[in-house]
Amino acid sequence: MLKGFFHVPKAVNEPVKGYAPNSPERAAVQAAYTSMWNAKIDVPLYIGSEEIKTGNTRNITAPHDHKHVVGIYHLAEKQHIEKAIANALESRKAWANMAWEQRAAIFLKAAELIAGPYRARINAATMIGQSKNIHQAEIDASCELIDFLRYNVEFMTQIYNDQPKSDSTVWNRLEYRPLEGFVYAITPFNFTAIAANLPASAAMMGNVVVWKPSDSQVFSTKIILEVFKEAGVPDGVINVVFGDALMITDTVLASRDFAGIHFTGSTHVFKDIWAKIGANIHNYKTYPRIVGETGGKDFIIAHPSANVKQVVTGITRGAFEFQGQKCSAASRAYIPQSLWPAVKEQLTADVKSMKMGSPEDFGNFITAVIHEGSFDKLASYIDQAKKDADAEIIIGGNYDKSVGYFIEPTVIVTTNPKYTTMETELFGPVITIYVYEDAKWEETLELVDTTSEYALTGAVFSQDRYAIEVATTKLQNAAGNFYINDKPTGAVVGMQPFGGARASGTNDKAGSALNLLRWVSPRTIKETFVTPEDYRYPFLG
Ligand code: NAD
Repeated sequence: MLKGFFHVPKAVNEPVKGYAPNSPERAAVQAAYTSMWNAKIDVPLYIGSEEIKTGNTRNITAPHDHKHVVGIYHLAEKQHIEKAIANALESRKAWANMAWEQRAAIFLKAAELIAGPYRARINAATMIGQSKNIHQAEIDASCELIDFLRYNVEFMTQIYNDQPKSDSTVWNRLEYRPLEGFVYAITPFNFTAIAANLPASAAMMGNVVVWKPSDSQVFSTKIILEVFKEAGVPDGVINVVFGDALMITDTVLASRDFAGIHFTGSTHVFKDIWAKIGANIHNYKTYPRIVGETGGKDFIIAHPSANVKQVVTGITRGAFEFQGQKCSAASRAYIPQSLWPAVKEQLTADVKSMKMGSPEDFGNFITAVIHEGSFDKLASYIDQAKKDADAEIIIGGNYDKSVGYFIEPTVIVTTNPKYTTMETELFGPVITIYVYEDAKWEETLELVDTTSEYALTGAVFSQDRYAIEVATTKLQNAAGNFYINDKPTGAVVGMQPFGGARASGTNDKAGSALNLLRWVSPRTIKETFVTPEDYRYPFLG
């Protein structure tokens, strides 16, 4: 085993490539996109060393061209889930005992594979399957995922290094054991990096995993698995199943060896899962770790002292990048009356200049939303806003699903600060603005704090330091990630650990050691060198 205290390479954030015209990275991703667009992939279940094709399949389509089938994936039945659990537990015997530097090397290698030979393909898969433009694909599927892998290796060593005091008579040690059982990872469609990180972070700490990806992220899942395989993740450590989320989850939660869940997705799904874990609690060998990052209703509040161009850019980037399908996307904004005419004018001009269409055309800032269910939901809120007296659509408001699920970037202005789109997570390119009286700064902060059940991200724009101080204090519990003079999206691993509280999740901060701590169960070992041989203490004399 360990014959040295090895240092891991210092984690550095992966630089974001520019993809400017004529750059080599642009040519590479365009070539990958073209070949993958016509490849017709066939994605099996990955259980132990087997790739299982059940024959019960669903199409993988591109949201921006939903009639174009880019492949199929196979759906699991209950027996496959049971098999995945059995394989995970079998693999645990070797994996949980593997020296940490071997695990570290695997995931550091995965990071470098993505940074180099797999970069164009993982970006192209994310562009095709999740309709990200190249910049959004690059910052997610490449850079954020690379950062997760590199930083988590560093955080793992920090955790292992955290040891109790000893003295000359006893040596105390903390051993960071993986959880006794297996971890269940359920991942959302909107970040390739999150999809890979939820199973990988638990596996890095020595756990075995059953992973259920989103039905809308299967294309990039396949590339993640190719990377993990080439990097050396042993068969059975991360088992992947697709299909009926309820059946899969119920089967997993019924296992006595279920030891933890690493979830990212919507709030109601997480709450239901939590309730089921509670109902099953008497069956488990150990108390399961429950980690979930969920929805948001993220805000921007501008103080009268704010710089208009900065506020508008916070809104355009914060609300509309990746069509607003980020848990951190700005979806409600509070603008003072004195700034509103200028904000409205520039916002209108900027949004009108945004082009919408396929991510294959690099001139498009906006592409499609993820699927028909999301499209229909967004369209219904837009239609309702067109009817409601207390709401007015001032920008956008059109939609068309004939080719792809396209929703125009839409700005609603409301006179009612509790209007439904100020409170409800829509998860699309729609932001609602409430214009407040300049004198009501503190009352408006109160409104921001009390308007939704969520507390994920939020931003204050101000040039007045007192105003920043008041907002930072009053909004202390309104966001797990709070931004001053910046948009509320774009958290970087190792820089802004990410997660929210209230209905937004357990706030276990992905991209930090706090998250990895949830995947270990420390054992304290006390060793006494000269052991007493008589029960009598001196005071008895
Ligand atoms: P979703 O809740 O629809 O799906 C997430 C995962 O849960 C998918 O794998 C899905 O198949 C599965 N699932 C769905 N119903 C289930 C059920 N009844 N039982 C078990 N599993 C079930 O979410 P989505 O549309 O993929 O992603 C968007 C949501 O994720 C938004 O609410 C967003 O805010 C949230 N999100 C949060 C963060 C964060 O860090 N807080 C990050 C990304 C996304």
